[in-house]
Amino acid sequence: MRIVRSIADLRVLLKTLRAKGKRIGFVPTMGYLHEGHGALVKQSAARCDATVVSIFVNPTQFGQGEDLSKYPRDLERDQGLCLDWGATVLFLPDASEIYPSGFQTFVEPGGLAEPLCGQYRPGHYRGVATVVAKLFNIVEPDLAFFGQKDFQQTLVVRRMVRDLNLPVDVVVVPTIREEDGLAMSSRNAYLSEEERGRALSISRGLLAAEVAFHAGERKVAHLLEIARAALTEPMKGVDQLQYLELVDAQTLDGHQGEVDRTVALCVAAYVGATRLIDNVILAPSHDEAVLNVTLSPGQA
Ligand code: AMP
Repeated sequence: MRIVRSIADLRVLLKTLRAKGKRIGFVPTMGYLHEGHGALVKQSAARCDATVVSIFVNPTQFGQGEDLSKYPRDLERDQGLCLDWGATVLFLPDASEIYPSGFQTFVEPGGLAEPLCGQYRPGHYRGVATVVAKLFNIVEPDLAFFGQKDFQQTLVVRRMVRDLNLPVDVVVVPTIREEDGLAMSSRNAYLSEEERGRALSISRGLLAAEVAFHAGERKVAHLLEIARAALTEPMKGVDQLQYLELVDAQTLDGHQGEVDRTVALCVAAYVGATRLIDNVILAPSHDEAVLNVTLSPGQA
């Protein structure tokens, strides 16, 4: 595995690979890697001839008062994991490489960036879209891998790829969870043992709603109530439920009444000072075609 820090060196290396006809996969990350990232890298390694993993804690996607400066880092461990998972190149740019002085051009996503996290993290998806577009232009991957854990992000990135005609296929990989259900996240490292116990109410609520859905429950209000009950259970729930919403899985429009299409049940919540997000996709069985479109070819 090669470790590359400059855009110029990466371009030279990838040009050689491409000249040999290698299919290039790309996994953008912010580091402090876990098996969720591992699923993306392994899928890229299985489907592509060379896999580029980037680790870049992107300042433009953090708002004021967010955790940019204390975002967890362990580069040595990350390198070992990337090697084990089958990465070919680890790209480790510093902030001045990606945002040299004078930088002033951004990608502005549209309506998909407005609901859910967009309401609470103004500018977040502008930062995400900008850095992902830049990384796509730097790496020029054939395939790029993203996690369903950040469901809104996958829609914003896919829309950007279509709207800007970026020549890359976006693959969405299902959320990897700890054995007890907690969605893996670099931010789980912030949780005390007591908080981690209560963070479990997030997946417990989502999975309870999912079970009810598969048992035939279609009323949006009931599904939300099932999830909310677990999330807000006294002593066992989260400290602050930022949002719990059931939205159309393609448009992110709020869904009311009965579920008659593929929807996403999405949560953001604070446990202590840590903000966690999670989601499940609920697809009426007749709607599998939609699920295939929403997720990725071969994934549903
Ligand atoms: P991050 O390092 O948190 O920016 O995440 C980098 C990529 O890994 C994003 O595409 C995330 O959606 C994905 N990812 C993070 N956690 C998980 C998870 N638990 N399962 C699957 N993918 C994940």
